[in-house]
Amino acid sequence: MCDVNNNNTKKKAGIYCHIPFCRSKCRYCDFTSYPGKLALAEAYMACVYKEMRLRAKELSGYTFTSVYFGGGTPSVIDAKLIAGAVRQLRKFYSIAPDAEITVELNPESVTAEKIAVYKSVGVNRFSMGMQAASDRLLEELGRAHTVEEFRRAAALLRGENFNADIMIGLKGQTLSDVEAAVRLAAESGASHVSMYALTPEDGTPMYSDYLNGDLPDGDTVASMYEFGRGLLRECGYFRYEVSNFAKEGYASRHNQNYWQRGEYIGFGVAASSFLAGRRFTNTRELDDYIKCVLTDHYPVVDDERIGEQDAKFERVMLALRTQDGLELAAYRAEFGSEFEQDFSAAIEKNARFLEKTEAGMFRIKDEYLYVQNQILIDFLQ
Ligand code: SF4
Repeated sequence: MCDVNNNNTKKKAGIYCHIPFCRSKCRYCDFTSYPGKLALAEAYMACVYKEMRLRAKELSGYTFTSVYFGGGTPSVIDAKLIAGAVRQLRKFYSIAPDAEITVELNPESVTAEKIAVYKSVGVNRFSMGMQAASDRLLEELGRAHTVEEFRRAAALLRGENFNADIMIGLKGQTLSDVEAAVRLAAESGASHVSMYALTPEDGTPMYSDYLNGDLPDGDTVASMYEFGRGLLRECGYFRYEVSNFAKEGYASRHNQNYWQRGEYIGFGVAASSFLAGRRFTNTRELDDYIKCVLTDHYPVVDDERIGEQDAKFERVMLALRTQDGLELAAYRAEFGSEFEQDFSAAIEKNARFLEKTEAGMFRIKDEYLYVQNQILIDFLQ
């Protein structure tokens, strides 16, 4: 077990744990998720616990300030298996007393009993896939729940710190659909809203809709985004990252760590980690993952040391997604060089989209944050 008395001297990091089971496959999904394999959940979680134990020694120099159970659909498996994972983490790792501990939920699999089990081990944040406030759109997406089921699940979360996911750029979606989704999230008491534009991934059924020209074009989606952002602001949610909006004091600490290029360890199939300048990823194959861990091997398939140039680009790319932008002094302290010199050509080319604040931050102007991908391409070169 880690020494929890010297937390001040330890490095800070986050923990991600991937739960790859879902009731069915959504039409747009290319995440690692296995519908129909729920019977393997117990064996899988036993392997996740073991992977946690295998890594404990090398991670004894860290205090973990956030834990995130994502998927897949963590709420589809027995809640006791998630509680067991939290107990394993507390036993083998130094988890900060005020750590943010999040569990992703889908409306069709949430019950009051499951929430009580999560809370009994210190889960203090939830993230629920709402996506839309229209059964027609939910069906189009292939979601396993209705709007009514979201309402029922959100009622169980009243008073809790929870996020609702909303999607834009859907087939047949109108501005009134976007408004209905934002209003439903706000009425339900969500403290945080993530609003993502649908990305049609090659190989998913939704990709044919894209090829057929059935999805709204980029300009239409940008208008939906700006409309949604205005409504979210009206409802008291402030943007702190291009797709993330929170009530005062409810920004997700786990995600902020990613955008600050902080370190994290990932457990489970397909989980990625970033530690000591290395980025490594576990196998996406469930059987391979189980076999590896059972034979005391790390299930890693990609392992890359990030060179200085890539590290600089990553730092800039992640920071410029956020409302606050890049802290120039922190860049200087980390790399020993000046951001404005290192990226002078890209800065000059995109000058009209960028601004430097008196507080020493460099950021994309508010009105251009949504199109940050087009701006960041120049920083990559
Ligand atoms: S619930 Fe999430 S992970 Fe599961 S199939 Fe749908 S989009 Fe994919």
